[in-house]
Amino acid sequence: MDQFIHTPTPTPAPAPTSLTSVFWDINLCPVPPSFNPRRVRPCIKRFLENRGYSGLVIITAFGVLQNVPDNILRGVFSSGISLTNVPYGSAPYEIGDIICEFADAYPPPANIMVISDPNIFSDVSEYLRLTGHHLLQPCPYDSLQSLLEQDSVAPEETVECWAETVESPCWECLLCCRDPPDHVFENFITHLHGDEHEQLLLKLLNENNAPPPPDPPVSNAKSLMTWDWCPPPPTHYNRSKKKALTLVFWDINTCPVPRCSDAPLVGPSIKRFLLNKGYVGPSIIIAVGLLEKVDVDILKGVSSSGITLTSVPYGIFSSLCLPTLMDIFFDE
Ligand SMILES: [Zn+2]
Repeated sequence: MDQFIHTPTPTPAPAPTSLTSVFWDINLCPVPPSFNPRRVRPCIKRFLENRGYSGLVIITAFGVLQNVPDNILRGVFSSGISLTNVPYGSAPYEIGDIICEFADAYPPPANIMVISDPNIFSDVSEYLRLTGHHLLQPCPYDSLQSLLEQDSVAPEETVECWAETVESPCWECLLCCRDPPDHVFENFITHLHGDEHEQLLLKLLNENNAPPPPDPPVSNAKSLMTWDWCPPPPTHYNRSKKKALTLVFWDINTCPVPRCSDAPLVGPSIKRFLLNKGYVGPSIIIAVGLLEKVDVDILKGVSSSGITLTSVPYGIFSSLCLPTLMDIFFDE
C-alpha cells in the first residue's frame, strides 16, 4: 500500500505545437527600468520559440496593477498582453484559481508557464501535474531581466504583432469582478481611478483597518523611485513635523534598484531628497519586500548605505501591512 501511495506522478511531456499560456507576475517581476514594455511579449515569445514551443501564446500580466505606472501597463497591453488586477495580498490565491480554471478549460496538451516565485504556486504545480499539463521549467521567475537579456528581438518587431496570432488582449479587475472583461485600455485606466473601484478598494482596506494606499506612480521614472508618488504632507505638518523622525518604507520589489552599482547610493539619495524637502530631522529607511528575490550584492549595497532590510511574505507589502510595520518600528 505504501509503495502505491508514494508512486510519483509522471511529469507530463511538453507539447511544442500546442497552446502555451503564460501567467506573468508583473509586481514580483517588473519590467526593468528603461526597458520598452512593448518588447516584453516578443521577448517571451522568442524565449518559448528558442525552446521549441511554436504554438499559440497567450500572456496575462497579473498583480496589484495600481502599483504599476500607467505607461508600463499601456505598453504591455498594446503589445497583446492581457491585464488582470488582483486585490492587495490575494494574488497567490486569485491567480492560482485562474491558472486552475485555465487548465480545466484547456485540457492537455496545453502548456503553462508562470513567471513568478514557484514556491508561491507550488499547489498549482501539483494540480497541473495531476491534470497532465506541462508546466514549463525552469520558470524564469528570479527576474524578468534574465529572460529579457537573452532577447535578440529587433525594436521594429515590437509592433502590435498580437493581431496576427491571438485575439485582442483584455483586462479585468478581480477586486470589482467586472464581467465581461473589457478590451479597451483607456477604460481600464478610467476604471482603476474610478469611483466604483476606489470605493471597493477603500472597503477592502477598511476591513483590514488600514488607511487607503497612496496614489499610484504617474510616470515611468528611470530613477530609483517615483518621488512624485509621495503625496505632499498636510500644511499643519510643515513646521514641527519637519524636525521629527521620518520613516521611509521602500518596496524594493516593485521599485527595484536598476544597477548593482546604484545600491550604495540609495540611502544618501533618499536622505538628500528629504533634506531638499525641508525634513531636517533624523530618518530611518526600511527596504521591505520578498528579499530572497533581490540580488545579494544589491542587498549588501543597500544595507551598506544605512537602510534596514525587512523581509515580508509574498503579497503582503501594501497598505495592509504598513500599519503593522510602523507599530514595530515606533515601538523600538
Ligand atoms: Zn476594479
